Amino acid sequence: MRILVSACLLGACCRYDGAARPQRDVQALARRHQLVPVCPEQLGGLATPRPPAERRGGAVMTKSGADVTEQYRRGAEEAWKLCCLLGCEAAILKERSPSCGHGRIYDGSFAGRLVPGNGVTAELLCAHGIPVYGESQIQDLLK
Ligand code: SF4
Repeated sequence: MRILVSACLLGACCRYDGAARPQRDVQALARRHQLVPVCPEQLGGLATPRPPAERRGGAVMTKSGADVTEQYRRGAEEAWKLCCLLGCEAAILKERSPSCGHGRIYDGSFAGRLVPGNGVTAELLCAHGIPVYGESQIQDLLK
């Protein structure tokens, strides 16, 4: 199966703080599946490192109040474009991220509170019918 994957889960240092979040279980999937790494925030034109951001209603705002909604939307479109071009059947995306989070994301207050919702890229992929899994749900994908 070809799977779109958050690049930070594969070890790319693309997070807002310049770090990676490698997950051994996700990396191990490369032995049996074709993984397509994407970082929507970088694809949307944002620098690394970059200010942390959270979804707030329909917008995405940095902690200092800059509106980065357009960059997050562009990154989601670019990720979707690659997903289509390469025929990805599912996505494994970093949990809680304002781009990649699926099911629960931070509430926009930068206080560490989670609320039901999706990141901008996860939302777009779901709208197009791509099953999205967080890194803790890999076993569900492999069933
Ligand atoms: Fe990882 Fe997604 Fe954030 Fe990029 S946008 S660093 S892939 S969680």
